[in-house]
Amino acid sequence: MSPDPMPRPVELRLAQDYEGIALNGERRRCFNRCLRLIVEGRLRFEEAPACLCGSKDHLVVNDKDRFGFPVSSLLCQACGLIRLSPKLKAEDLPLFYEEVYWGLVTGSSEESAVLDTGGEGFARELHRALAPFLPASGRLKIAEIGCGNGIKLSSLKSLLREHGVEAALFGCDYSSNAVAQCRKKGIRAVQADLAALSAEAPYDAVIMSHVLEHFHDPLAELARIRKLLAPQGRLYIEVPGVCDLENRPDYDFDYNAYSVIAHNFNFNLLSLKNVLRQAGFACLAGDEFVRAVFAPGDGGPISDRELSGNHQEIIASLNRAEAKRIARRSRPAARLKRAVRALLRIP
Ligand SMILES: [Zn+2]
Repeated sequence: MSPDPMPRPVELRLAQDYEGIALNGERRRCFNRCLRLIVEGRLRFEEAPACLCGSKDHLVVNDKDRFGFPVSSLLCQACGLIRLSPKLKAEDLPLFYEEVYWGLVTGSSEESAVLDTGGEGFARELHRALAPFLPASGRLKIAEIGCGNGIKLSSLKSLLREHGVEAALFGCDYSSNAVAQCRKKGIRAVQADLAALSAEAPYDAVIMSHVLEHFHDPLAELARIRKLLAPQGRLYIEVPGVCDLENRPDYDFDYNAYSVIAHNFNFNLLSLKNVLRQAGFACLAGDEFVRAVFAPGDGGPISDRELSGNHQEIIASLNRAEAKRIARRSRPAARLKRAVRALLRIP
């Protein structure tokens, strides 16, 4: 029998006419502040020559983020993980998050925008994903890393209570305002990084929503998180899935609008599973949104064939997203809107 023929590589067709996100008001102020900090040498960058899997084989997806910062997205050909290079140095991240990040990303200087971690809708999805893997009765200890204003944790507690489960809540966040708001909700929150959670460990569940992609060294952080969990504990991780861009008109289906200087890594479900596998976690469930539940332990190997084909799956998905973007842009209403905006010089 002859071996399977090598599949033809899929060529990435990403938008070439992306002009960057409009910089108005607070966003422009934070962008300029970021440039100033870079010029002053207070925000520094370093190259990320190898993937977390060790491979240096990659494809360049794009060479700047949504704001135009010259940081490239490198898609690992061995596992499909996307890493940013160059990326901000770990020791400069606290300054970046204190002075630049929230205003740049949300375009708002309001504290409420800074701390809102998604609200009750997110909590319902979190409960739907996580609850099947938690004990059906008793009292649980649940911690959230990057807990924001605590709305997700407190909503989760209410939903668990409806099903007969009580939860004691813990959290950590860099923002003093976040911690104050959490405490009003009965959450035992601390203004610190995740190391501070060890005082009350072990936990039945640890929640990390839109946090992992920001880490400078995810494997080191996941090793610390593993120590926080009870042997039967669960780790819930939510990240913006790169293969979900096909369903994201809010990003105009465009990787260029999705990539951002703060996200050192971008995942689909398989590349996330592979990183967690390296850190000693097994995947119990997950989707391409991405929402996934993990447990400490060995989930078994992921085949080289599946892993090495992942970057092609991601390229195919990005190409489908790009086809949607083009189709949307060619609609008469969209063309008229662009013409009017050009006439009025609206960015
Ligand atoms: Zn890799």
